[in-house]
Order: sequence, then structure tokens, then C-alpha cells
Amino acid sequence: MAKTYQWQNYQIEPTGKDSGHCNCCQTKTQKIWGFIHQEEITIAAYFVGWTIDSPDHGATFDLILGSWGEGTSSTDRAHAALNFGSASV
Ligand SMILES: [Zn+2]
Repeated sequence: MAKTYQWQNYQIEPTGKDSGHCNCCQTKTQKIWGFIHQEEITIAAYFVGWTIDSPDHGATFDLILGSWGEGTSSTDRAHAALNFGSASV
């Protein structure tokens, strides 16, 4: 039987947050990160960053997908980076 993916099976575990200031305009920036679990198994880590009240600055989403925990290493995981922003074309 093919494995099905349903969002209801995923749990988000926020583990950290940090704030800073944009290099170009000193507006406050925010970063959050954590893990995504599927039925007790960790399947990904996520990192999201944005500039507060500055949608023109876009947002970044980093996903590290794969196996986590004892007996695994970074070669068991893949990195996907997404930049969210308005298109100028
Ligand atoms: Zn800025």
C-alpha cells in the first residue's frame, strides 16, 4: 500500500527563537526554529526568518529533511531553502 501523507499526522515542536535587526534598515527581525514530527518520529527541522512589518523584505524558510537521532548523520538529511518574496518581473 502506498504511504499517504496527511498534515494531521505532523506535529510541530518549536524549540527556539531569536531576534535581531536588519542590516539595511535596522528593523527588528525574527527567527524561529524547531522540529517536525510524524507519529513520534522526527522527520525534519525548520528555520523561518522574517523582518517584522516589512513584507518587502520577504521571508526565508529552511527545511532539513531526513532521519534524525542516534545512529544518523548529516548524510541522512537533505536541505531545502525557500526564499519568499514578491516577484519584480
Ligand atoms: Zn532592511
